[in-house]
Amino acid sequence: MTGLKDNFLRVIDYLRVSVTDRCNLRCLYCMPTDGVVPFEHKDILTYEEIVRIVKIGAGLGVRKVRLTGGEPLTRKNIAFLISSIKKVPGIEDLSLTTNGILLEKYIAEIAAAGLNRVNVSIDSFNPVRYREITRGGDLDVVLRGLSAAEKAGLRPIKINMVPIRGVNYDEVIDFARLTLDSEYHVRFIEFMPSGHNDYWSPDKYITTDELRKKIETIAPLTPVRMRRDGPSRYFRLKGAKGVIGFISALTHHFCRDCNRLRLTSDGKLRPCLFSETEIDLRAALRSGEPDSEIERLLRLSIEIKPEGHNMALIGPAALDTNRRRPMSKIGG
Ligand code: SAM
Repeated sequence: MTGLKDNFLRVIDYLRVSVTDRCNLRCLYCMPTDGVVPFEHKDILTYEEIVRIVKIGAGLGVRKVRLTGGEPLTRKNIAFLISSIKKVPGIEDLSLTTNGILLEKYIAEIAAAGLNRVNVSIDSFNPVRYREITRGGDLDVVLRGLSAAEKAGLRPIKINMVPIRGVNYDEVIDFARLTLDSEYHVRFIEFMPSGHNDYWSPDKYITTDELRKKIETIAPLTPVRMRRDGPSRYFRLKGAKGVIGFISALTHHFCRDCNRLRLTSDGKLRPCLFSETEIDLRAALRSGEPDSEIERLLRLSIEIKPEGHNMALIGPAALDTNRRRPMSKIGG
């Protein structure tokens, strides 16, 4: 099977799995200063439960799994989960989104376990600014992790940056230039009004169109068609080795090309990043339901996947919708 189609003919073949809501950074735009109250250990899905869901998902056509969080590398023995998911028939691509703080430490284990790729979130290449944005992160450690991932052959390496006006917007050109001599995929994610939403404001938000114009002051951007690129749109600067991606959560194609379901670390299936609708898989798993019931719930979440997140209207209403679960508790 090649993935179930939802009611809007989008093929759903991608499952993003948040393995923990805990994080070792406190990014200004993602978390409140004092963090969020973490889920209790018993509330988090076990690796066995996650693998069972992935197996049933693979039977429905899920081909791609991404592990995220919180910070996925803070969860004990993540390599075990990686190798278990890699063994699931049908899973073709397994990747991980990380802030990179623990990447150098764990790269050998996770690469050996079969991880295909990593996305590393870096919002500044200025160590002082990086420390401010992440409230204490050490950029050097992350950069060492990045080169360790390269050496381990995890390609392509994607670097995620969230440009925020007045914070790191002045570095966008430097990030874009990185692609000239390296094969990185540098991806700019529109700043979304989710999670720690006291921080979001319209004046900090930068549209993809504005970003593109700024980047095109270096050289023209030519569209690049990537295999199964989902909601990201890719371009190449003339002569560049790497590519530049835009993830336009609030504008452009984000919903039209959405190919994913999200599983939160406490076992809720979210058909859409921004909707409050969740299907409780953990309750079903723990009350001894058979695979057929888990499959029914997975199908249901595809059936009720909304056409769009309706956040086009940037403002207080959008903020309210997303107040309940911060990004670390959904899985970005
Ligand atoms: N800890 C991992 C990391 O840092 O990549 C995975 C979790 S983090 C929530 C996943 C991604 O979501 C990061 O690239 C982060 O920058 C992004 N993110 C978090 N809050 C965001 C927001 N309000 N708008 C846009 N992206 C956001």
